[in-house]
Amino acid sequence: MKKYSLSMVMLIIFETIAVTLWLTTDNLFYLFNFSYIGIALALGIFLFIRKHRYARRLTQLLVGLYMLIYLGVICRENMQIEGFWYYLFLGVFEAATIHYAIAKIVGPLIFGRGWCGYACWTAMVLDFLPYKVPKQPRKKIEWIRYITFAVSLMFVIVLFWAHVDNIERIMFWAFLIGNLLYYIVGIGLAFLFEDNRAFCKYICPITVFLKPMSYFSLLRVTCDTSKCIACGKCKKICPMNVDITDNSRKRKNGTECILCFECAQHCPKDAL
Ligand code: SF4
Ligand code: SF4
Ligand code: SF4
Repeated sequence: MKKYSLSMVMLIIFETIAVTLWLTTDNLFYLFNFSYIGIALALGIFLFIRKHRYARRLTQLLVGLYMLIYLGVICRENMQIEGFWYYLFLGVFEAATIHYAIAKIVGPLIFGRGWCGYACWTAMVLDFLPYKVPKQPRKKIEWIRYITFAVSLMFVIVLFWAHVDNIERIMFWAFLIGNLLYYIVGIGLAFLFEDNRAFCKYICPITVFLKPMSYFSLLRVTCDTSKCIACGKCKKICPMNVDITDNSRKRKNGTECILCFECAQHCPKDAL
């Protein structure tokens, strides 16, 4: 049982969030929402520990499809960064603001960029593409993420400033069109740079939150240097170009780690 403790801890954390939000807001949705996400994550970790090949992908599909189709399309909640700005400016702590606080701002202090490895509905599609291991060196164009971040913020500021009618409707369409654009650009870049995660590395505005917070992450992959034979397999296999053999927080591309554990699975010496 001891080896499944991480799975249990994850379930307990999410159940605590689910019950707390349910009781404090008197809204049963939070009990359902966070219980579902907690069960999906716990199941993924459980299967991963049992060495199931598609454990991470299963969790990614369970959470990603739920958020994209159920919350986004059926419930018409804009869960993208524009939705976060929108609810933040309204002063409403629900939907996208809670989601961002837990998954992308406070949560990464504990589980780093676990969101990017196990839940994101953009990466859920990108991870089906053929370049799981990048075939080209990393480009120096990460600055684009600050532009997309600023554009998303300006878009919502302009909507408020112009006192646009039907802003809820615009946010719903922004969610649909925004996601479609993300998929088109993400798939295009993956083929152009022969790298499934090119969108994550250069374009995604959410990384402006995720990277600094995950720098302090409690949960991180470390290297037992007494076992490591410097074969370089971990660096070659990593989809995010992380130098995982360096245990310092300043490791190369350290804030890019999505906790996929591909490196650990391929290490011939069990050093990770
Ligand atoms: S970097 Fe952005 S697109 Fe990529 S997995 Fe993370 S949140 Fe999703
Ligand atoms: S794959 Fe394992 S042994 Fe090889 S460099 Fe990485 S940590 Fe060291
Ligand atoms: S392969 Fe290892 S270092 Fe690279 S993202 Fe996955 S867990 Fe992080």
